[in-house]
Amino acid sequence: SRVYLNGRFLPLAEACVPVLDRGFLFGDGIYEVIPAYGGHLFRLTAHLDRLDASLAAVRIGNPHDRATWRALLQELVATAGPGDHSVYLQVTRGADVKRDHAFPAADVKPTVFAMTHPLRAPEPARLETGASARLMADTRWARCDIKAITLLPNVLLRQAALDAGDDEAILVRDGAVLEGSASSLFIVADGMLSTPPKGPALLPGVTRDLVLELAQRHGLPWAERAISETDLRRADEIWLTSSTREVMAVTRLDGQPVGDGRPGPVWRRMAEWYQDCKAALRAG
Ligand code: PLP
Repeated sequence: SRVYLNGRFLPLAEACVPVLDRGFLFGDGIYEVIPAYGGHLFRLTAHLDRLDASLAAVRIGNPHDRATWRALLQELVATAGPGDHSVYLQVTRGADVKRDHAFPAADVKPTVFAMTHPLRAPEPARLETGASARLMADTRWARCDIKAITLLPNVLLRQAALDAGDDEAILVRDGAVLEGSASSLFIVADGMLSTPPKGPALLPGVTRDLVLELAQRHGLPWAERAISETDLRRADEIWLTSSTREVMAVTRLDGQPVGDGRPGPVWRRMAEWYQDCKAALRAG
């Protein structure tokens, strides 16, 4: 399969970026991850909206218009072959002539890179077991709403969770639980689905918005509200969501069972609504 780099489709081994690229030197860039089911990009408009927002926040001019993005991502997915894929795309501020924190001259073009990976939906057995999570202090910066490639804290937090024998870190800041190291967070308490409100402290998840849309459509009560550590520990259900891991129930938190230690009934309904959405996309 081929990757996309600066206007060309080429084999991965031939895709090279200069060492002075600001993505390499400073992590000066942003990214997106978009699932494609049976050749159809899922929630593409929402991902391109977030791409616009991330680029604007870091003051990188969008190198492509909407139609160009759609065409190139569609072509990339088509060349990846049948089946499901996730598309990774990243835009950096480009390669300067020297290392300097200040923005480069206006004629330096952003570097645009995109690739696909085969995407396997979580195994049914895995979904039934659920994930284990661990609360950790949020060591990230103050603009977690930007999907920046600068992911060192997320990498360290995820690895710390794995080293502790858990699947994901749930991040706490000033007593509020915000999201996972690479996922959005939901709780169910007294039949009410809740997720923290958008703001600079967390990434506006595309899957998060879809889950709220599905709750609305199916009459499940939901709210965007601050969630405390105590709320989390008392919740009947905890879910983590992302484009590649979909809606995953957390069945253990800090080594303790969540609810009865199995994915809950509200999760089961949401997981089904989510699969219906994917099926509708495949059906065209
Ligand atoms: N929060 C963080 C920090 C993430 O990195 C991600 C995705 O990787 C998410 C939330 C979920 O976002 P989405 O549903 O758009 O994949």
